[in-house]
Amino acid sequence: MSEQINAFQIAQKQFDNVAEMMNLDPGVREVLRWPAREFTFRVPVRMENGDLQVFTGFRVQHNDARGPNKGGIRFHPDETLDTVRALAMWMTWKCAVVDIPLGGGKGGIIVDPSKLTSVEKEHLCRGWVQQMVHNLGPRQDIPAPDVGTTPQMMGWMMDEYSKLSGYYAPSAFTGKPVGGGGSLGRTEATGFGVIYNVREAMKHLDMEPAKSVAAIQGFGNVAQHAAIGFVELLGGRVACVSCWDRNDKKSYTYSHKDGVDGRFLLSITDQYGTIDKQKAADAGYLVEDGNAWISKDADVLIPAALENQINAETVKKISNRVKIVAEGANGPTTPEADEFFKENRIFIIPDFLCNAGGVTTSYFEGVQNDMNFYWTKKEVLKRLDERITAAFSDVLQTAEKENIYMRDAAYIVSIQRVVNAMMMRGWLHGDW
Ligand code: NAD
Repeated sequence: MSEQINAFQIAQKQFDNVAEMMNLDPGVREVLRWPAREFTFRVPVRMENGDLQVFTGFRVQHNDARGPNKGGIRFHPDETLDTVRALAMWMTWKCAVVDIPLGGGKGGIIVDPSKLTSVEKEHLCRGWVQQMVHNLGPRQDIPAPDVGTTPQMMGWMMDEYSKLSGYYAPSAFTGKPVGGGGSLGRTEATGFGVIYNVREAMKHLDMEPAKSVAAIQGFGNVAQHAAIGFVELLGGRVACVSCWDRNDKKSYTYSHKDGVDGRFLLSITDQYGTIDKQKAADAGYLVEDGNAWISKDADVLIPAALENQINAETVKKISNRVKIVAEGANGPTTPEADEFFKENRIFIIPDFLCNAGGVTTSYFEGVQNDMNFYWTKKEVLKRLDERITAAFSDVLQTAEKENIYMRDAAYIVSIQRVVNAMMMRGWLHGDW
């Protein structure tokens, strides 16, 4: 996200609005609208050409009242402390809404990882851990992969942490490769979590999943498994998916008269989520402009690519058949589009509830590491389904009881849980 849209100001504004609705004590607001701890540091790396290059790294720990901080590490050339602060705060709410005993954190390095060799990446990862080692760990702060970082990088980081600590500590990092301490089911977790949420929303709205149609934006990790899950778990039809084409530098929408076959498209998609246009066309797919996804005749819209995709302009194009918007991506809906959804009574599953399947399975990964006993994929996904179903129900009950929008209800559930934990630990110095 660029500096012009200051993500941290947005995160604080969202919090302030709900804090006002909840009539939260001013001192408690002040505790929660800022991170508890922030680290900015320099990581020197000897590059393969012999130069010493110095990178800037961050880690922000927003709140750990409910458990160790949890959140990804991003490697991105536009990374800023404010972006990391915002993402750390959102992680606090995400972990709280699914009721896992973790707080919120996020980290990063200002770097374009595609410009580094594998050896340079490894040194950068190990250097990041060396700077943070005394403030990380299974009982303090547990990072995970995010934009620009991979399971392999988590393997290096976990190894560095273990070496510096003097003992094997697999649960210090999650999102590790399967076989190296990773959990089965992590690949599907976020997309399937979106679909478990959609299934619960359909029950609430009395919709028939098998007669439902979804339009999906994106075809990366989240969208791929949302597309597969919508068909295989619900029996519905997927009208389209879309993706950014790295070669043409533009986005396309892919639809099929019989519905999209997610597994087939996955077999012709590269690791960056670009679908092979020619192979898709040969298999009978209609290839249209990337914006076409939003106006498809569908009951469910699943934005699962980027932020700000449903905005004042694009929201006017959605079909009047749409009943559910399931936010697979982080921040896909702007405040103007939110107003439209409120007025038209379109049911929203807010991002930090809808895409919480990933962090929930990361939590399961840490639990399996600590037990040194690993579950089957079926067991992981069953536990994930139970957690997501319970979280959806908690948020829906609050929305109905208070007669409020689902996004506000999700914030209230999360903030209340964090405030309760702070209160029980005596952080608020008083009788509440
Ligand atoms: P990804 O990098 O695997 O995939 C992104 C997809 O979006 C790719 O298919 C890309 O081609 C597509 N895309 C990019 N620009 C586009 C455009 N203009 N139009 C259409 N498609 C476009 O990313 P991901 O892991 O699937 O994450 C997607 C979103 O979900 C992000 O907002 C991310 O923060 C959020 N999220 C991901 C996870 C997770 O576990 N992967 C968890 C929580 C939230």
